[in-house]
Amino acid sequence: MKNSFDIAVFDGDGIGPEITRPTIDILGKLAAQSTYELSFTDCPAGAAYYAKTGESLPKASMDVARESDAILLSAMGLPSVRYDDGTEISPQIEIRKALTLFAGVRPVRIFPGQRTPLNMPEGREVDFVLIRESTEGLFYSQGSGEVTQDEARETLLITRDISEKLFKFAFKLAGDRKSKGVGPGRVTCVDKANVFRAFAFFREIFDGIAKDFPDLVADHAYVDATALWMVQKPWDFDVLVTENMFGDILSDLGAGLMGGLGVAPSADIGLDNAVFQPCHGSAPDIAGMGKANPMAMILSGAMMLEWLGTKHNNAAMMKDGTRLRKAVEDVIAHGDGLTPDLGGTGSTSSIGLAIIKELAV
Ligand code: ATP
Repeated sequence: MKNSFDIAVFDGDGIGPEITRPTIDILGKLAAQSTYELSFTDCPAGAAYYAKTGESLPKASMDVARESDAILLSAMGLPSVRYDDGTEISPQIEIRKALTLFAGVRPVRIFPGQRTPLNMPEGREVDFVLIRESTEGLFYSQGSGEVTQDEARETLLITRDISEKLFKFAFKLAGDRKSKGVGPGRVTCVDKANVFRAFAFFREIFDGIAKDFPDLVADHAYVDATALWMVQKPWDFDVLVTENMFGDILSDLGAGLMGGLGVAPSADIGLDNAVFQPCHGSAPDIAGMGKANPMAMILSGAMMLEWLGTKHNNAAMMKDGTRLRKAVEDVIAHGDGLTPDLGGTGSTSSIGLAIIKELAV
């Protein structure tokens, strides 16, 4: 069994370094008390690095990322630093494409004690996963759309190869959840197959893959109805799988349901590599103030432990991943020292300390 893991760390821009510090601290403390080892390597990249050096994602950082067991990334990009064509520096998107990280995993959990704008019926909990395809879809044409004086065009790409990998990933995840007693083992393909041929193609591939998983339920929903149901009855969902742009929008809706971007983790997973990153950006408006919520990044770290543990059959890591997620949820439920985004007066470091206290590490 593999026991020692190299983690590439991109601490990025804006609040990135501030939220990375407690995350590494907690992951290091967990490993020190357990049987596995984590070694962290800093990977310079991002907007501030570009402003200083003219490079946004140096080859050396990409090489470390490629060779690592997992990549932990905070947030990159600053509105004030742009390429000559006016677009923002976003090496995280380049990494996703370079490593073919097609499955953007966005868990949505609402548990007792969590702040949510929803009126949750007594006894209900929300625990579903939105999987956003992360390498093609409408984002495929990023940077190459055609704009004239009178027209603008962007092209959506959906390929059989990536869609098959994506749907297999989704069914496998639903099966793993079901075997742990989470969810009924159902995958919903979210599309707009009633209007666009590309989405009819997407759905047809989904139905083909579903046949390989006869023990799981496959169903379909249109993206607009899904947005409605995410607000009206989100407890009904298990695993949702969708195109890049639809997933981009729905995952922010999911973050809103959970109480905000500060508590929304994510993972971008491929066949060999994976990036674990909060759903939010670099939040330059609050950078350097010590009030950024590190929970989304710490929860992404918990997802990394669970993913590495599952991939390498390392029970201690899987256990620590679950334990870390539970500790964050308990700190939210107790309401102690929460940051302003969650209605408190605490700080980035007070949240880190509260989680360490909860874990007793
Ligand atoms: P991107 O396009 O890179 O995802 P964005 O422009 O959508 O980024 P964010 O950087 O995510 O924006 O910030 C959106 C808002 O949420 C900002 O007001 C920011 O301060 C707030 N925010 C984001 N992350 C956090 C956090 N971890 N803690 C507290 N507030 C946050």
